[in-house]
Amino acid sequence: MTFSIQYIDDEKIEKDYKKAISELGNFFELNWEFNKPRIFLVKNRVTIDKILGKKTEDWVVGFVNKADVYMLDRENYEKESCHKFSEEEYSKTIKHELAHSFFQVISGFKNKPDWLWEGMAIYLSDQDETKNKPKEFSEFLDYYEKSGPGVYKESGFVVKLLVEKFGKQKILELIKSLMSINSKKEFQDKFKAVYGFELNYGNINEQLDRV
Ligand SMILES: [Zn+2]
Repeated sequence: MTFSIQYIDDEKIEKDYKKAISELGNFFELNWEFNKPRIFLVKNRVTIDKILGKKTEDWVVGFVNKADVYMLDRENYEKESCHKFSEEEYSKTIKHELAHSFFQVISGFKNKPDWLWEGMAIYLSDQDETKNKPKEFSEFLDYYEKSGPGVYKESGFVVKLLVEKFGKQKILELIKSLMSINSKKEFQDKFKAVYGFELNYGNINEQLDRV
């Protein structure tokens, strides 16, 4: 399978990239110097599908491959996706994908549970800023192996709660431990060891009430 790529000097993306790398580096406590993520702009849906080896939904506009970020080119954004284009949303999406890159590196390229993987990227790129906080959580735990549009609903708010209530060291510890975790059960045990309570809706909703 063949792709044609070329280097481009895109000032706006370069600026977003540098800012995101610096902010995410601070959060993850990772001063990334070598083999830093690269951004590849993809022109159309057909190419996204060829890279991923599957038919993608029209809401997929960015993804990571190892630590590299692939983004639907803003030139064709509205034509090739269901999203409206805005510079601000695009910058947030770049940061969202780069947050996945950092996650990959500190987790040893493990990215389950999906709610933690997406939740971190949503939280760190402020994508929930304009959304209302759920009154209670009832869906995010469905997304361990499973992925899909539903995971974006609660997971950013769960991560926000965990970071703001218990500090970022705990969530970093949890993510770093993923490299030696091989099942949902092992994850739940680790969660309990880190946070001191079982991961379930009752306990999480109780924390929500106290924020
Ligand atoms: Zn994501």
